[in-house]
Amino acid sequence: MKALTFYDIQDLRYEEVPNPIIEKADEVIVKIKVVGICGSDIARYRNLGPYVKGNVWGHEFSGEVVEVGSDVTNVKQGDRVVGCPNLVCHECDYCKSGHPSRCESLNTIGALVPGAYAEYIKLPAVNLVKMTESMSFEEGTLVEPATVAIHGLYQTKIKMGHEVAVVGCGNIGLMAIKWAKAFGAKKVFAIDIDDKQLQVAKKFGADVLINSKDIDFYDEIRKYGNGVDIAIESAGNPFTAARILGLPRKGGEVVYMGIPYADVPIPRFYFEKIMRNELNIIGSWCTISAPYPGKEWVNAVEYIGNKRVDVLGMVTHKANLSEGPEMFQKIIANPKDFGKVLLYPEEII
Ligand SMILES: [Zn+2]
Ligand SMILES: [Zn+2]
Repeated sequence: MKALTFYDIQDLRYEEVPNPIIEKADEVIVKIKVVGICGSDIARYRNLGPYVKGNVWGHEFSGEVVEVGSDVTNVKQGDRVVGCPNLVCHECDYCKSGHPSRCESLNTIGALVPGAYAEYIKLPAVNLVKMTESMSFEEGTLVEPATVAIHGLYQTKIKMGHEVAVVGCGNIGLMAIKWAKAFGAKKVFAIDIDDKQLQVAKKFGADVLINSKDIDFYDEIRKYGNGVDIAIESAGNPFTAARILGLPRKGGEVVYMGIPYADVPIPRFYFEKIMRNELNIIGSWCTISAPYPGKEWVNAVEYIGNKRVDVLGMVTHKANLSEGPEMFQKIIANPKDFGKVLLYPEEII
């Protein structure tokens, strides 16, 4: 089959690789229909390189089941499915106590095992969730980035009437805005340094837009009250990762969803907020809970599939899988021009 294999920084190739074959009774082979480019893929492509040289890359996908192992009962040939990319052992203390996102041998497709920038992928059956009838493959592919935001919000005490600030309105930030509303947030502040992105955030449900390029968002947010109940860091930026500590009201929460690929120096003024304001600092990792793959997946499929939450507005580009290497080059040359990019192993739908 054809796939995108990741060899080195800025060295992504479209080439022939062996087809996956069923080796264990619980395995399933899925024909991939749509696969999304993740923000973390861009960071790896630009700065970090692959986990394993030449591995098939990618982890956000939807597709159709083509073959199942002898023990598989939850899906069958022809089922339309989305795939949870996080692989866990199901046996360590964390997995057994209902926290698979903390699994001691947490792995993700496209990292150490073959991923989804390909015509076919093999996964354990438990990682597959059936799509609703009304769900398109595009919507299915956006379930994984949705679950990242949902998993983060489930770590908080969010309630109807809460005020939430989202710092960084890239794909995960947009998802955080959308899902904070679905969780009952009364008012969502979108904070970014790019006006164009803030306009997209507005379409995703943000109530107040703050461009923090030339102003301090600590002061700005206080024009609206004492601070927010929950501040979400989705920029993955060392500067905002420190300053976000100034956004919550006393007793509020900070959730880190973005990954800063650099040290995070925290000025004393902001660090002290953790103590003085008795903040709850929450880390959120991947997308899963118990029963595996978790309520994140069940609810993302339900809400997106039944059009209760519309996430398609973040898609800006579609291309054939074969155009992947070129597309990654274009994205790092002009990152601001790209929202969610979808790739298609067959024809673009
Ligand atoms: Zn991702
Ligand atoms: Zn485990």
